[in-house]
Amino acid sequence: LIRLEHVNKHFGEFHALKDIDLAIPRGQVAIVLGPSGSGKSTLCRTINRLETIDDDGGRILIHGEPLPAEGRELARLRAEVGMVFQSFNLFAHKSILENVTLGPIRVKGKPKAEAERHAMELLERVGVAHQATKMPAQLSGGQQQRVAIARALAMEPQALLFDEPTSALDPEMVQEVLDVMVGLAKEGMTMVVVTHEMGFARKAGDRVIFMADGEVLEDTDPESFFTNPRHERAQDFLGKIL
Ligand code: ATP
Ligand code: MG
Repeated sequence: LIRLEHVNKHFGEFHALKDIDLAIPRGQVAIVLGPSGSGKSTLCRTINRLETIDDDGGRILIHGEPLPAEGRELARLRAEVGMVFQSFNLFAHKSILENVTLGPIRVKGKPKAEAERHAMELLERVGVAHQATKMPAQLSGGQQQRVAIARALAMEPQALLFDEPTSALDPEMVQEVLDVMVGLAKEGMTMVVVTHEMGFARKAGDRVIFMADGEVLEDTDPESFFTNPRHERAQDFLGKIL
């Protein structure tokens, strides 16, 4: 579903992604781990074209179609891959319901009534339907992040990228967000998840991609990764967080 071929990314002289080759098949939950600065966010951002990649022959394909640099085709392919950030990024001056309906109405041209009906279903599913008329600031962090997930789902994406979706949350709110993500994983959603939640990684992950210094050093199943990390950097990393 998502494929990266020889993807490189420089920020000036700094080589942030080094020749990344990855294929994420439909229905897979890929957990991305690695120390700070290893390129996890950059990887997510390039998949969604929030960052460009180096023009050296590398490419990113969604459904076998290369992501173009710009234009209508880019918008269409980008809509297939939703993204949920650490800071929920809700529109502060729009209600919860409007936050979820805006994309489908503006980008997909959905009629308002239909967008609202679908949004209410999604808000129900993430457990915040009763807050639909409130403004984002009136919700807890965990509730806002669940709205952000509903907003991403409203675009009916083929895959979702999560960049540390629970790291900005108070500890007691982490689980409610992870529960929603576990539910999506069980339903077969294709997901790429950058997270430090090792319980979630073991429970919901099909695969662990371990990065350091812009490289993928390990790419294996969670059980092997956690019980028998091969690379020294992975062993160090696990030693620090477990
Ligand atoms: P963290 O766990 O702290 O979120 P990360 O693995 O997500 O780290 P990235 O944010 O992808 O790391 O950053 C990878 C490297 O690229 C870092 O060294 C960072 O300083 C650099 N970098 C990221 N974005 C930019 C930018 N816009 N301009 C210059 N350098 C950048
Ligand atoms: Mg990051």
